[in-house]
Amino acid sequence: MKDLQLLVRPNIWSLEPYSSARDEYKGHEAHVFLDANESPYNKPYNRYPDPLQTELKKLVSQEKNVPEANIFVGNGSDEAIDLVYRVFCAPGLDNVVAIEPTYGMYAVCAAINDVDYRRVLLDEQFRFSADRLLEAANARTKAIFLCSPNNPTGNDLDRDEMLSLVRRFDGIVVVDEAYADFSDQRPMRVELETCPNLVVLNTLSKAWGSAGIRLGLAYASKEIVGLFNKVKYPYNVSTLAQEKAIEILRRSYDVHAWVGRTKKERARVMEAFRQLPICKTVYPTSANFFLARMTEAETIYRYLIDKGIVVRNRSRVALCGNCLRVTIGNTQENVELLSALRKYVPA
Ligand code: PMP
Repeated sequence: MKDLQLLVRPNIWSLEPYSSARDEYKGHEAHVFLDANESPYNKPYNRYPDPLQTELKKLVSQEKNVPEANIFVGNGSDEAIDLVYRVFCAPGLDNVVAIEPTYGMYAVCAAINDVDYRRVLLDEQFRFSADRLLEAANARTKAIFLCSPNNPTGNDLDRDEMLSLVRRFDGIVVVDEAYADFSDQRPMRVELETCPNLVVLNTLSKAWGSAGIRLGLAYASKEIVGLFNKVKYPYNVSTLAQEKAIEILRRSYDVHAWVGRTKKERARVMEAFRQLPICKTVYPTSANFFLARMTEAETIYRYLIDKGIVVRNRSRVALCGNCLRVTIGNTQENVELLSALRKYVPA
């Protein structure tokens, strides 16, 4: 890995971050807070949230076995994706490399930040090659984006290939593990200690059933976490979101049961798709969704919409012609989807 200072935008490296009222008194006992122009009324929401989410990080640390100093908490993992650009990529100068197809926000954030986004196509079985990603990179490539299990294809990326890329690339490698709770593959976060250029993303939006609270996580070296904290909005995660996140992390037993149920339903729905005459291929998945190649995705998509059932039409995505991406719902939702599809009459 290049020296971190060479990877970070010079203005960010030298940035003097905003110092909040609460940051400044830290370490002293206090009970009268007249430092932040808050209201004394409407407790407890009159107070600003903990800018570094200390209590929440303790629970994440226990659940994910990552030291607190290596955890960044954001307003969804989308915040962490954007921070990768804002910290490392100089607009109009630097570039990133990413697998294609993958989660759309990496490209959107690149465009917003005026960063060249280089797409490297997966193969027909949605596998990637570290060699090909490295060939697409040059001296101005600051980061490479991987997503495992990948969205929208659902498959785990090959773990050895990911590790090989992390070890060979001299910039940042982001591995988005938003769906890893549904996968049996060993998560990449366990490699953090030996990989200073690795950033792993997690979210409470998927397995943890909390998309509405907007809570994302990034695991990285404490130097990179420090840079993210320096650039983020001072109070990026609301008190309400922190409270709800703490609540769900204390219910990890329930969450593990939900994941088990989703995996069982996943096997059942995928098998039912294989039996549908209008389904050509069901692709293997390790996520809470799967990709299915249909005879006529667009028409089937519209037919389902008419019945009030929404899946994702991925037909126009590279390598996904005629593909629908189907999220696994509860038993009742899955039954409704399958019975509608069984009644579908091709034109
Ligand atoms: N990464 C991937 C791969 C995703 O599919 C999504 C959401 N669709 C996200 C990140 C965004 O997660 P969050 O809700 O934490 O912003």
